[in-house]
Amino acid sequence: MTEPHTQPDTVECPHCHTRFPLAHYLLGMRQRCPACGQEDVPKLVDSGHWRCDLTFGDFQGLLRDAYTQSSTVERVSRWLGWMLQQPEGEAFFTDLLGRRHSLEAAHLLIQTTPEWQLNLYRMAMSFWR
Ligand SMILES: [Zn+2]
Repeated sequence: MTEPHTQPDTVECPHCHTRFPLAHYLLGMRQRCPACGQEDVPKLVDSGHWRCDLTFGDFQGLLRDAYTQSSTVERVSRWLGWMLQQPEGEAFFTDLLGRRHSLEAAHLLIQTTPEWQLNLYRMAMSFWR
């Protein structure tokens, strides 16, 4: 077995148009531009190579769409112990102590845990194919 070949995407700052590398799973999340320091969602200009990363936009879609929501929420609950809350407006998670966690926080924890990342990717592909 060899390590999977992965290579970050290339994105562009919407303010100064500087291009910089970004891991695929961070697409759709706000980033601080390394050149001008502005915080915004950078634009994809060139796809890298990845195996089973889901972007933040993918994750938001899984939580929003009726077909995939319960399977996604069940996994987040099992892995992190967090429950999805959807008041008017922005969705977020709460833990058993009632503390609030952002969708970004859940996405980052899942995408940096290879076992969960692969599991969620396979779940998404089973719905999307
Ligand atoms: Zn910039």
